[in-house]
Amino acid sequence: MADMTKPVPQLNADNRPFWEGCREHRLKIPKCSSCGYLRWPPAFLCPKCLSAENEWINACGTGRVYTYAVYHIAPYPAFKESLPYVVAMVTLEEGPRMMTNIIDCDPAGIYCEMPVEVSWDDITEEISIPRFRPLQ
Ligand SMILES: [Zn+2]
Repeated sequence: MADMTKPVPQLNADNRPFWEGCREHRLKIPKCSSCGYLRWPPAFLCPKCLSAENEWINACGTGRVYTYAVYHIAPYPAFKESLPYVVAMVTLEEGPRMMTNIIDCDPAGIYCEMPVEVSWDDITEEISIPRFRPLQ
């Protein structure tokens, strides 16, 4: 029988501060303490200067749709109930691009550069997933 449960993010040393921030509904991004580069996705070493030092900053939670796809066929059985849904890359106000979902709107109305804001989906007591909706 197919697994009907959607996957849950797995925490590790690189992404734990991000997911802990999400639990508090704060969108956190690692910033290199040496050169200031915003490392996204989170990584142990800065891809620009190779420093291992970083601090976590709070992103403001807004951005713009960079690109997107509307899914009409579920890649896994657990996603069938969500069809159609939108997978998108959103350029955060701070610069990094985050893979996410666009929610709370008709997929036909989505366009590149559309202003969006974060919306929290509390899927468990430990995990809240940042999705984005049209900016109100
Ligand atoms: Zn750096």
